[in-house]
Amino acid sequence: MNAHVARRSPVHRGVAAWSAILPGQPPPVRLDGDETADFAVVGGGFAGLSAALRLTQLAPGARVAVLEAGRLAEGAAGRNSGFMIDLPHDLASDDYSGHGAGADRAIIDLNRTAIGFARAAVDRFGIDPAFFDPAGKVNGATSEKADALNLSYARHLSDLGEASERLDAQAMHELTGSRHYLSGLYTPGTVMLQPAGYIRSLGEGLRGAGVAVYEQGPVARIDRQGGGWALRTPGGTISAGKVILANNGHLESFGFARGRLMHIFLYASMSVDLGPEALKALGGAPRWGITPSDPMGTTMRRIDTAQGGNRIVTRTCASFRPDMEASAAANARAARVHMRKFEERFPMLAGTKMEYSWAGHLCLSRNGVSVMRELEPGLYAACVQNGLGTARGTLTGMGAAELACGVTTDITRHFTAEAGPARLPPRPFSTIGANAFLRWKEWRAGAE
Ligand SMILES: Cc1cc2nc3c(=O)[nH]c(=O)nc-3n(C[C@H](O)[C@H](O)[C@H](O)COP(=O)(O)OP(=O)(O)OC[C@H]3O[C@@H](n4cnc5c(N)ncnc54)[C@H](O)[C@@H]3O)c2cc1C
Repeated sequence: MNAHVARRSPVHRGVAAWSAILPGQPPPVRLDGDETADFAVVGGGFAGLSAALRLTQLAPGARVAVLEAGRLAEGAAGRNSGFMIDLPHDLASDDYSGHGAGADRAIIDLNRTAIGFARAAVDRFGIDPAFFDPAGKVNGATSEKADALNLSYARHLSDLGEASERLDAQAMHELTGSRHYLSGLYTPGTVMLQPAGYIRSLGEGLRGAGVAVYEQGPVARIDRQGGGWALRTPGGTISAGKVILANNGHLESFGFARGRLMHIFLYASMSVDLGPEALKALGGAPRWGITPSDPMGTTMRRIDTAQGGNRIVTRTCASFRPDMEASAAANARAARVHMRKFEERFPMLAGTKMEYSWAGHLCLSRNGVSVMRELEPGLYAACVQNGLGTARGTLTGMGAAELACGVTTDITRHFTAEAGPARLPPRPFSTIGANAFLRWKEWRAGAE
């Protein structure tokens, strides 16, 4: 097709807290007038910025422009829990195991390629190490059933030759200050991001490397223009030889993969900066990250002053929203659930306020595939990260840049061999069914 008009632009519910707690947000750089570029990237999240960085490596001297609808780290890139996970983490399974040893091995290798790429960016641009902490993570369990899930996951990891360490209730208490957990499974390979710190710094690093990163200018339409494309934004038009769509679920807003993408909102709350008395009552280590042993349970994280304050982040609740907007009611309901989960885990902090509560947009496909391929001549996609976009978004961004430069790698081979995203049942059945399913999974996860 010669024209792709955006039917929707991102709408956010709640503040992107990870960015709000960091100082020094520079004023936005907006596109003002018409420009040309060799490559234009739509979206400045994990996928878009990774694509831009990979382009600077593969095509030195090429003119690269990133066009972000809002501010950097205002979208899902600044709304997630910051677990950049190396291991299989299939949210649709009961215990995160993926689809057999061979497939899982391949995913681990790819995820580690993404983490290595991000680590090299951290070194190259002098990004604050507090924003990229290779501390590992713990899968927490609060019941015998959850402990059994952790054991089955540990066996699966051992079959893959991957290390893990079981923590007992006392070790979990010493780590978190909470007596809520019966046990935990520590795995060392996860990097704990301050996601907004990483994304904003990566954007600044790219600017320093000559990439034009424009903010607050949603791309409204993309038209074929000669052998390339023209991208129209409110402030001006970019004419580019090649275009990478790295706008996650908003790929569908441009008419691609219609009726095949699941738009899920996840919800999180972040506490106020805890004072000395609260910290003393809490105890535990200054930084940790706990994923639930049941994928639909509650993720908890503690961060410290170098990451934006001594705070606890609670993430749980999900809703399916084909209109790509989370409602105020859903955000308020989730905030109440967060408060309850927080107080169950930290009764010594009862009465602590949540400073921020927000929703963020994830994009999944029913069959767990991404969309990383050439959509039309010179138009590529780096989208649909299936919930684990810090690593997967980095990979699809790298891969789309490689495709656009005619380079074949393990990444391009992996994603171009995937099937297309499976069709969803028609609405309203898909909406009712998916929300009922998510609520049921949430209920079943119980205290996890
Ligand atoms: C509460 C929550 C917790 C999460 N926790 C984790 C976690 O711990 N680990 C993990 O790996 N993942 C997690 N995720 C998922 C992760 O945040 C996403 O998968 C990831 O951000 C996807 O990266 P992306 O670059 O593909 O998309 P995004 O980060 O969504 O970036 C896409 C960008 O495209 C921009 N855009 C859209 N349309 C346009 C347009 N027309 N013009 C210009 N720009 C446009 C958007 O503004 C956005 O900034 C979580 C998500 C949420 C909401």
